[in-house]
Amino acid sequence: MLFSKYCEYLEELQNESGRLNMIETLNRMLSELELSDIKPAIYLSLGSFGPDYDKLVLGIKDKFLLTALSKLTGIPGSEIKSLYEKYGDVGDLAENLSTKIGVQTRVDDFFSDETVNRELSLSKVYESFSKLAKEGLSNNAKIEIIGDIDSNLSALEKKYYYRALVGKLRLGVKESTWIAALAKYNDEGDKEEIEYAYHMTSDIALVAETAISNGMEGVRALCHVHVGTPIHSMVAQRISSGEELRKWIQGEFAIENKYDGYRIQIHRTSNGIVTLWSRNQESYTNQFPDILEAVEKLFNKSVVLDGEVVAYDYENDKVQNFNILTQRSRKYGIEETVKQVPVRVFLFDILHIDGKDMIKHPYLTRREVLKKVIPENDIMVVSDIFRSSDPEDADLQLLNAKETNQEGIMIKDLSEEAIYEPGKRSFFWLKYKADYSNNLSDTFDLVIMGAKHGKGKRAGVFGTFLMGIYDRVQETYHTFCYLGSGFSEKDLEELTAELNDIRVEEKPADYDSVVVPDAWFFPHIILEVSAAEISDSPVHTVRDSDGKAYALRFPRYTGKRRTDKSVPDGVTTLDEVVEISKHFRIGSN
Ligand code: AMP
Repeated sequence: MLFSKYCEYLEELQNESGRLNMIETLNRMLSELELSDIKPAIYLSLGSFGPDYDKLVLGIKDKFLLTALSKLTGIPGSEIKSLYEKYGDVGDLAENLSTKIGVQTRVDDFFSDETVNRELSLSKVYESFSKLAKEGLSNNAKIEIIGDIDSNLSALEKKYYYRALVGKLRLGVKESTWIAALAKYNDEGDKEEIEYAYHMTSDIALVAETAISNGMEGVRALCHVHVGTPIHSMVAQRISSGEELRKWIQGEFAIENKYDGYRIQIHRTSNGIVTLWSRNQESYTNQFPDILEAVEKLFNKSVVLDGEVVAYDYENDKVQNFNILTQRSRKYGIEETVKQVPVRVFLFDILHIDGKDMIKHPYLTRREVLKKVIPENDIMVVSDIFRSSDPEDADLQLLNAKETNQEGIMIKDLSEEAIYEPGKRSFFWLKYKADYSNNLSDTFDLVIMGAKHGKGKRAGVFGTFLMGIYDRVQETYHTFCYLGSGFSEKDLEELTAELNDIRVEEKPADYDSVVVPDAWFFPHIILEVSAAEISDSPVHTVRDSDGKAYALRFPRYTGKRRTDKSVPDGVTTLDEVVEISKHFRIGSN
């Protein structure tokens, strides 16, 4: 496909009717794509350059592109900067420079649409991103690569090329949109299998390419554990009382600690290559050299293990607070922090062993194998379970957890059907959390949708944040509260710096908000928030199917940034809010 044609599709996805008919538009695009275009087309539409676990990182920021545009056009930097401030988006800037002005030599090529002599293919443009991702490129070399592409692009193409360079396409296209489009293209009945293949491979573009080249047989052949490639983790549904667990689990269940750390997936291939993955399919391999070394030493089989890594005080044999573990997120000085913050992994699942997938086996079978596989050692231990058939035990264990300052408990179905369900918030696992404030029984993982500038002591930074939950049915974010307490000055400075990078000029299409903050952001940053109660609200937009309104009252940032979770899957959902409010709604309606 020509890049110009691809950009026409992107333009269509951006306009009002395109946004409403995304699946139909993507379906049409699929029918026109050559096989070799499928991956570039899908990755770019998601604002990415590769699958989540193996993305190219360009590290290009708006500021650098302003310098590049100044060099390529000959327009002084100060002028470019003020035009950028006017448009507020580097893609709009490049598009407008291209159509509106005409000057100088090289600049002639750059500006005038008529001088475009060669129409570039989507693959050719995509190749330039791989070139730019090479390590150690000088800024001049980068500008050269960008200039080579740029000189052949029309105004519209420039808009999307420059946006893609900074990873800000923001079309609102998600993996789930592609799954729906692929099902429409193939057969609606295939949707579940397509989704499953995506959870097993963590690569929607690979699934699409396979579906189109080899049909559903090819897709089914992808549905196994690929050792070395992260699988989407199974996650738990939440419950708010022991009694509630009977809604989901009829017979015996296991109660485990809910360890307060980072989810970790450990892979060792049959030829000894070890990789560690976060719940977002980001690599932890460099971040946890101590775990890497232990896996290298302890195993000679191919395995995929699932667990939670926590900061651990070995002297007193105690799990440390989550905030201590966050010191291990640093990118630099890793050796130092390994010594300062020792960790332990509590393993609770095994997904693969020596060529055999374990995910379709019931939990007790998986645990038996897990116990056999893990040799005696300090750093990786199998989590303890307590077996019971009495929901009151869940309440008792939760009390215990509260007393020992733990986050809560996990309850796991022990029936034969209770398999490992990749990528699902499964009812085979229930989380039952204790909020230390003792008001609401739970905390919420909310996404920052917007913010207001701080006043007084907080001038110069964002001081209050508009927080949202996610509605999976409507695929929309709804505002749930304004959040201003619980932040340190450092938190606000760090958040402000990061938010400035993901600021968008207009309210994103999938945001449902009545209030208008000073700034809108791309949904990316998730914060854990506790609150005193849920009540109705005249200003926030969370509503259940009966139209009943919900908002958080007296919300407070717990200090826990959920970098281990990603949008939209990691954000508290509308269903969860409705469920929690049944037990804790104290508000006025
Ligand atoms: P939450 O982060 O509140 O959505 O809770 C789910 C998370 O709890 C999982 O993704 C794991 O990272 C974590 N977790 C802690 N302990 C366990 C456990 N014993 N079994 C499963 N997940 C656990």
